Amino acid sequence: MIILLLGSGGREHALAWKLSQSERLTKLFAAPGNPGIAQHAECVDLDPTHVESVVAFAREENVGLVVIGPEAPLVAGLADRLRENGILTFGPNQAAAQLEGSKGFTKDLCQRENIPTAAYGRFGGAGSAKAALDSFGVPVVIKADGLAAGKGVVIAESRAQAENAIDDMFGGTFGTAGAEVVIEEFLTGEEASFFALTDGTTVVPFGSAQDHKRVGDGDTGPNTGGMGAYSPAPVLTPELEARTMREIVEPTVRAMAAAGIPYSGVLYAGLMLTAEGPKLIEYNARFGDPECQVLMLRLEDDLVTLMLAVAEGRLAELARPSLSPNTALTVVMAAKGYPGTPAKGGAIRNIVEAEAKGAKVFHAGTAEGPGGLVANGGRVLNVTAIGQDIGEARDSAYAAVDALDFASGFCRRDIGWRELARQRN
Ligand code: ATP
Repeated sequence: MIILLLGSGGREHALAWKLSQSERLTKLFAAPGNPGIAQHAECVDLDPTHVESVVAFAREENVGLVVIGPEAPLVAGLADRLRENGILTFGPNQAAAQLEGSKGFTKDLCQRENIPTAAYGRFGGAGSAKAALDSFGVPVVIKADGLAAGKGVVIAESRAQAENAIDDMFGGTFGTAGAEVVIEEFLTGEEASFFALTDGTTVVPFGSAQDHKRVGDGDTGPNTGGMGAYSPAPVLTPELEARTMREIVEPTVRAMAAAGIPYSGVLYAGLMLTAEGPKLIEYNARFGDPECQVLMLRLEDDLVTLMLAVAEGRLAELARPSLSPNTALTVVMAAKGYPGTPAKGGAIRNIVEAEAKGAKVFHAGTAEGPGGLVANGGRVLNVTAIGQDIGEARDSAYAAVDALDFASGFCRRDIGWRELARQRN
């Protein structure tokens, strides 16, 4: 089986690493890839959102399965075009990817299906949005409807802040993503991520994780794409996981199929664990980054077999995916300046020495410079380890971090703190 993997981050390096362990794989292409992915794949210079070029390449090279890592090509309709050309694809069609691409679409679906989520309203203009603020009180959550790379959400502590956020969004700060605004009730609780695989009909759980969005220790500083994660998230107990499947994920998959837009791929539910039970904050139509890295370290099954079953609609024929009961933890090393303007070009050495400490170092924003590997993005490396418990995984990951020579990089030193604190008490 010839596979084409799209994307260039740590998520895709983890997928490439796992796909390459399969005996069913004959050749792996990656587009555009990165130096870590290049250890497992032939990297080709294709833009994943350039739909026609990807389709043409997949046809020319007899690609049997295309795995779409990031959300932008999904929302651009790449999966639709690949399927129209008879190419098996892991990832939802454009209409189904609205579960991530349009917050209003997802909220309406939740309301219709009685799926637990925050109370909300959808607004097409600043006047009606501001008028509705009275019924929400503060804090209140203001969201741009479309994709805004995690930046289109404002938690407003005051009415004035809420009005400013509404003006900003309709004023074009997020481009077309802000043409419509969703206002939501503020939920309190602990956040957790839950993953499921579905072929449109059958849906199976694929593990839980918790990430660390803020840049600084103790969850301080600005939001980022994610500074670290661990899996499983014990706060999502087996009972809560079963409830999440029954009350949130299964009704979503059923409703999508009934609406004629079956969802196929990985469905990533961002949850708030409230006093009343799990509530859906958002869906993502792809694996989380860096959550994918910890899931791949725990996955005991052949990833090619799983992804093919999803793409071919044969998930019911397989046993449930098997994830190790051990805990995996990943520490993101970022370039100084991130999430602002990161320092590019800083030398990275001693990856071999770091991996000798029992960790796997996935590449995110790296490049091959004339003198060796250098930083080439905000999030640069994902140092990932697995252990019998979170403490063991954390110790291996940080031992590897300390063995790296990456002077222009930094990381949080407290990944896993919530769970570690819970275990101490
Ligand atoms: P990302 O891409 O970073 O996951 P996003 O732009 O898709 O974000 P959401 O996941 O909907 O947006 O919201 C981002 C964050 O805002 C959530 O992880 C959560 O911390 C907070 N948040 C969103 N909605 C609510 C809510 N109703 N109540 C409380 N907090 C919320």
